[in-house]
Amino acid sequence: MRVNPEFAKKLKKLGATRVTECFNCGNCTAICPLSTEDFMFPRKIIRYIQLGLEPRAIQSPEPWLCHACGECSTTCPRQAFPSEIMNSVRNYAFISYSTPRFMGVLFSSPVYLPIVIAISAVLLYFYLHLAFLGYLLLAYVAVVSIYSIWKFWRALGGETVSDFFATFKETLAEILKHDRFTKCETSAYRYYAHIGVFYGFVILGISKFVAILSYIPGKVLNNIGAIVLLVGAVWIVNNRITYRERVGSGSYHDWFFISLVFLLTITGILNEMLNFSSLTLIGYVVYLLHGLSAIMIFVFAPYSKFIHAFYRGFAMVIARSRESGESKVEAEETAAEAA
Ligand code: SF4
Ligand code: SF4
Repeated sequence: MRVNPEFAKKLKKLGATRVTECFNCGNCTAICPLSTEDFMFPRKIIRYIQLGLEPRAIQSPEPWLCHACGECSTTCPRQAFPSEIMNSVRNYAFISYSTPRFMGVLFSSPVYLPIVIAISAVLLYFYLHLAFLGYLLLAYVAVVSIYSIWKFWRALGGETVSDFFATFKETLAEILKHDRFTKCETSAYRYYAHIGVFYGFVILGISKFVAILSYIPGKVLNNIGAIVLLVGAVWIVNNRITYRERVGSGSYHDWFFISLVFLLTITGILNEMLNFSSLTLIGYVVYLLHGLSAIMIFVFAPYSKFIHAFYRGFAMVIARSRESGESKVEAEETAAEAA
């Protein structure tokens, strides 16, 4: 088993600031409404981190079965914030399964923000001058996303290509329903906020295709999507502020993504309004900001919170299909010991 002594340090940069405080009492696991006999967390994952067992932590489905309700953090006697620790493992997974990996790293820290903005600005420039670039970017995002999800799925114990696509249907249903949020009764309020953000993006995506066929219905759908997305984002931030003690302050990943959503929706709505005014300079700036945020969300989708819906969906399908809570690494070790 590969041990990474730097693992806890790396997670610290992604939001797990108090891993060393945990003394493994297990209160968090006892209180967690989503922990089961087969999949017990968060204590087990925290133990892996303390021991530097990186593969076990990021190849386990448990970090994705956690829905960040924060219930565990309120009962931790050491204020280790187990909810934040679970979130940091998910953030680490975004980087680990990224293709190419450096793109995932770019999205993980404010240090790289100027590079992210510069790449997006260059892409926006060429997009505005070369119409076909949009199709190339779409192909890039699709291929890279599928490959990253494939790597994730394999790491968690998935086997063949046909199984991968067979589980896609089940995963999609899991994602569309969002029903695991409602199983966590203490944080059912988060369900509607996530539904808003998720379906806001879905409506925006559909509106682009509708606009190709018919301009006005596409525009109407686009505006509906922007409003749904904005309401969802406001709701998420409100929940973060209201329940800060429980859910923690959030990581750079969380805040960067939600900030981009605000930039996208607000500049989009302003753009529509300024189309009917004579404020051409302001209109131009708003238009560029809107384009920049759209490119950043789209091109960095395989490396941001955007892709977590798929990781979570596949992890849930894999977890359901397994009888025991063994990770792939644990299963291999068990098999090796038995041989
Ligand atoms: S995170 Fe807190 S509650 Fe959970 S095992 Fe560690 S000390 Fe106990
Ligand atoms: S945040 Fe909620 S779901 Fe996640 S481990 Fe803690 S109690 Fe369980």
